[in-house]
Amino acid sequence: MAVIIDGKALAEKIKQEVADAAGHLPRRAGLAVVLVGENPASRTYVASKEKDCRECGFESFGYRLPEDTREEELLELIRQLNEDEKIDGILIQMPLPAHMDEQRVLQAVNPEKDLDGFHPVNVGRLAIGAPLFVPCTPAGVMEMLKEYQIPIRGKHCVVVGRSNIVGKPMAQLLLREDGTVTVCHSRTEQLRELTRQADILVSAVGRAGFITADMVKEGTVVIDVAMNRRPGGGWCGDVDFEAVEKKASYITPVPGGVGPTTRAMLMRNLLEAAKLHMGIQ
Ligand code: NAP
Repeated sequence: MAVIIDGKALAEKIKQEVADAAGHLPRRAGLAVVLVGENPASRTYVASKEKDCRECGFESFGYRLPEDTREEELLELIRQLNEDEKIDGILIQMPLPAHMDEQRVLQAVNPEKDLDGFHPVNVGRLAIGAPLFVPCTPAGVMEMLKEYQIPIRGKHCVVVGRSNIVGKPMAQLLLREDGTVTVCHSRTEQLRELTRQADILVSAVGRAGFITADMVKEGTVVIDVAMNRRPGGGWCGDVDFEAVEKKASYITPVPGGVGPTTRAMLMRNLLEAAKLHMGIQ
């Protein structure tokens, strides 16, 4: 039976460390959270980020804009937040309404306030091995591997999914730690042959039951990034947890795995942004 990676406990530990450090800053760090429209899931995510902020001793500034906001109005708000010295980090909650160009909006954020690490400057910095802000989900996965002292160097790491927010930065981070990385996606042939070779398997597809026990070798570390709504309520990941748990050496649960760690890493990124703006090493 696998060791179940406790993402909640790790998140609490990270948040406590962040809160301790935040207490020593010369001023309170500030987070701007921008939500456009009424997407219920987005409202929940935003509320939980604001709660995390309060718990860590940061100040959060919410900006709720109506669904029909013009892109230019949003860009103007971002320009103001970029200039605002109270604001150390800017989060633009995705998805944006269909009439907005997501990339144009993300690129308007000052890279030094881009806590999500989505700005091309931060994407590029990660790619060349000089990261500033790294996307929170893969950064949280790396914290998990570190916390459980799971070796990465020389190991075959298979990442299923190649999105800009999870799969690609995940691959970069594993590569930085000397993993041998294979990235799989919807056009990958012989997917099972590849996942069966994984020492560390990260799944970020978004399909319940996608990773079955026959896709995993004995002793694999299985990290399930996905958050899929169960038809009857609640959440599950990509991995057939009951079956895979019997073969894996470590496994993350859903919920209680990658989700809480992602939230905690956002707080750590805010702390780092504040230190950067306050000239603290
Ligand atoms: P995404 O942009 O939809 O990407 C999904 C990836 O899965 C794509 O690269 C896609 O390949 C690949 N894929 C789809 N079908 C496949 C198949 N049959 N075989 C192999 N690969 C396949 O999703 P995302 O934003 O990366 O998120 C992935 C999951 O993680 C979602 O469930 C999301 O809710 C969850 N998530 C969780 C957190 C958290 O904090 N826990 C954070 C972010 C995301 P193509 O590129 O070829 O289409």
